[in-house]
Amino acid sequence: MATTSDTDKSPRAANQAPPTHAAEVSNYEIVSHYFEMAADRLGLEDDVRAVMRSNYREVQVQIPIRQTDGRIHVYSGYRVQHNAARGPYKGGVRYHPEVDLDEVRALAQLMSWKTAIVGVPFGGAKGGINCDPRALTKDELQRITRSFIDKIEKVLGPTRDIPAPDVNTNAQVMAWMMDEYGKLHGHTPAIVTGKPISLGGSLGREAATGRGVVCALEEYLRDAKAGEIRDKTFAVQGFGNVGSWTARFLRQRGGKVVAVSDVTGAIRYGPGLDIPALGEHVKKTRSVVGFPGAETIDNDELLALDVYVLVPAALGGVISLKNVSDIRARLILEAANAPTTPEADEALTERGVVVLPDIYVNAGGVTVSYFEWAQNIQQFSWEEDRITAELARHMREAYATLARVARERKVSFRTAAYIIAIGRVGRATVLRGM
Ligand code: NAD
Repeated sequence: MATTSDTDKSPRAANQAPPTHAAEVSNYEIVSHYFEMAADRLGLEDDVRAVMRSNYREVQVQIPIRQTDGRIHVYSGYRVQHNAARGPYKGGVRYHPEVDLDEVRALAQLMSWKTAIVGVPFGGAKGGINCDPRALTKDELQRITRSFIDKIEKVLGPTRDIPAPDVNTNAQVMAWMMDEYGKLHGHTPAIVTGKPISLGGSLGREAATGRGVVCALEEYLRDAKAGEIRDKTFAVQGFGNVGSWTARFLRQRGGKVVAVSDVTGAIRYGPGLDIPALGEHVKKTRSVVGFPGAETIDNDELLALDVYVLVPAALGGVISLKNVSDIRARLILEAANAPTTPEADEALTERGVVVLPDIYVNAGGVTVSYFEWAQNIQQFSWEEDRITAELARHMREAYATLARVARERKVSFRTAAYIIAIGRVGRATVLRGM
């Protein structure tokens, strides 16, 4: 296993110095920095590097919608396809007011690395619309979704590019996407993953990312001989799909989830929150705040709690130079995409804090998306036990390679993850003839 002292000491080229102002670090800068660092380590040839750092296709579309206030609102929709050397493009679609091309580019690239690490035969893509679903009616959301699919359908397809849920999108949104695509191309369940079970979705997909996050932690604890989940305390930022399922599985294994946050605020309860009851509270009130018995704390305070594991499970760039010195957790389990800026990552590693990186930790979602896609293509459904066992196998095997590379090369888990992923995508790119 990689020890906490495995700080990366590779000389950094001038164009790779981490940006100096944390507030200005974009998701794309974060992801590009990690890519270049690992490409240097690998000695990746310039021409392969040039292909892999750029995107195959970037689509931006206009989505004008007449809303219930009678006015036309114009949203921007994005689909970025990074690399398909290992299989069709694959990646979620995010609805958030701050979505822009930079963020979608970064997330598309992360998907190429993630699918390579867990060995599923997909490439990487991502999509997004700069809307705020909390401020939209269900009808508006449906029309925005259908209009987006109408405008990008030519670059999608079950063997071309397969969307999935991400922040603020869910099984219902996937059902609308599938339906809209089907109007143009005929019934095609394999066009999206994360669908409702009744429309060809997979058992276990909704919980998959959280389940994978907990598998990743179990693998690390076993390898590092660092005890069991039941001896540990946790703070979880974000209580949506990924955060809530992660918290639920941690509690099921006896872990004490002492704090949780969402966009409305944060709560703390020292003896450990009752996560299923908190889930019911959030269903009723749409907020973690006000959960009986728990104290309300600041969102920033949650990140600085003295817990064993901090689980960022919301947005990118939340652990940065601004707050890294406040972090007291011993381990960062990156359930969100790109939650740690390069400077913060470096500071944490120097302090001996272990960071298990996003491109491994949250890959359970795309792994079960692959199972869903395979079931749709075969027109056959698997039992949940098979999904859970196969997911655990993928996470276990991916960890074994990750730990071996980290140990052999004396690098952090993040650098090891990028080295493995870039190596696999690079080999496929070269074999196919760039
Ligand atoms: P989601 O929309 O279901 O949940 C997001 C959660 O984050 C919500 O609880 C929201 O209130 C909270 N949040 C937003 N802003 C916040 C803030 N400033 N402070 C605290 N909480 C905040 O989204 P999700 O699908 O759970 O995705 C969460 C993260 O996991 C994202 O980074 C996403 O890219 C990543 N991810 C998701 C999947 C998946 O299968 N859904 C797979 C891999 C990675």
